[in-house]
Amino acid sequence: EPVPSAEMDGFCRIFGIETEYGVAVTGADRPVDAGQVAMTMFQPIVSRSRSTNTYLSNGSRLYLDVGSHPEYATAEARDPREALAQDLAGERVMRNLALKAQTKLRESYGEHATIHVFKNNVDSAGHAFGCHENYLVRRFVPLETIEHQLLPFLITRQLYTGAGRMTPDGFQITQRADFLDEAVSSATTRSRPMVNTRDEPHADPDSFRRLHVIIGDSNRSQWATWMKLAVTHLVLCVIEDAARRGVPCGFEEYDFADPAAANRMVSRFLEHPDAELSLVSGATITALGLQRRYYRAVASFVSDHRETMGASLANRSYSGSVISDSMSGDSPDVPVTVVLQEWDRALRALESGDYTALADRVDWAAKKRVLDTVRRRRPDATFAQLEQLELDYHDIANGRLYGSLSSRGQIRGLIADDDVEQAVHNPPSDTRAALRGRFVTAALASGAQFSADWTHLALTAPERREAVLLDPFDAAGTSDFTRLMEALDR
Ligand code: ATP
Ligand code: MG
Ligand code: MG
Repeated sequence: EPVPSAEMDGFCRIFGIETEYGVAVTGADRPVDAGQVAMTMFQPIVSRSRSTNTYLSNGSRLYLDVGSHPEYATAEARDPREALAQDLAGERVMRNLALKAQTKLRESYGEHATIHVFKNNVDSAGHAFGCHENYLVRRFVPLETIEHQLLPFLITRQLYTGAGRMTPDGFQITQRADFLDEAVSSATTRSRPMVNTRDEPHADPDSFRRLHVIIGDSNRSQWATWMKLAVTHLVLCVIEDAARRGVPCGFEEYDFADPAAANRMVSRFLEHPDAELSLVSGATITALGLQRRYYRAVASFVSDHRETMGASLANRSYSGSVISDSMSGDSPDVPVTVVLQEWDRALRALESGDYTALADRVDWAAKKRVLDTVRRRRPDATFAQLEQLELDYHDIANGRLYGSLSSRGQIRGLIADDDVEQAVHNPPSDTRAALRGRFVTAALASGAQFSADWTHLALTAPERREAVLLDPFDAAGTSDFTRLMEALDR
């Protein structure tokens, strides 16, 4: 029997971001293996939980598989801004682990040994690693529908969410277009890599799906992380609403004839901004033209559903250091309006070829501006030197470039530093992550043996008890949860 959730009828959503990081060391006296460094980073975790896979008191998951790509998966958030705060908390958790490990490393590898933790998607050996976005979608929408209607959007949204990459053949606006080939091409027939094939909703499978998007780049820009979740959310609202009513949503005709080729072409946008991409229908369209169509469809959908759409994001404060000039006011649909404005503004900048207008919010544009400036000032700079600079942008442990851009106001921030620190210690308060956070905090404090995952919390000693959390929207908890917490108090 499906778990009843009040949220089933509206446009509310659960968001989560998984980020894999790349690890490297420079300045050591002798060679040191990145895998070994990652293990050193996880030493405090292992001594706490006897595993490299753990859930933190902010409800997130921190883990290390074999190899050297530590991963942080944010707790469930109801709002893109909250998910962003949780993702930034992940950067901070990783940096703290890296700096501790660096102190340790210097005892054996010399005082200059420096750990780099890259929030990017390709390492120096050419291996790609990921950043997954997770969206709760109602079960009645067939996965195939989502794939067909969303893939063209996901491929072209990289115009403003791509993290950019220097290659010997030119600057691409995405990190992984050349790595995702086979995956993207099979995405229209099977669910990869835009969506992972596994049907793992981490929730009641009769009510919910988890759309597991794996085509996106990791972002340093807060604006980019926020926008990629927010705009994708709005597009999903259109798709879900049509599926609920059993009518076409209008995106059916956007299927690319060759998604992998389209993806590669979008990545080469700077060289080929006007490239015509072929659709299954036989028509052709530019990447920007397609984004414009999605934009118009979403804008008109939003104006038809003002009340309910507003409510999907309205429980959050969008004031403060955020982006738009026109976002003051108490109207319930302010956040949605801001998302649309920002989307429109980004598309207009791209349409007019004014890429520097995006350099304070779009990762590829920010990097390109820096690289162009350096090339102008030092025409003899080598590819390798520029590549170092590019890598530094992604280094969340010891990188300097991103921090200096943001302290000079050249990259916009959306989340205050204090709020990031808050998110390191506290889960979102309005999802089941709140329950997980309370449980982990209490279990650690009492020294009890416990285990946790997205849908289960369990005490293994001194007493066996468990609670199942099948509704990600439920922050109140069932009676099982209450009994579990009581057992911890004993
Ligand atoms: P892998 O690392 O192999 O891709 P995975 O995607 O199954 O594994 P995790 O790395 O554990 O799982 O991350 C799961 C992410 O999904 C988290 O960010 C979490 O907040 C989010 N999430 C959990 N349940 C839901 C849900 N029902 N809908 C949307 N997101 C969810
Ligand atoms: Mg994961
Ligand atoms: Mg995943």
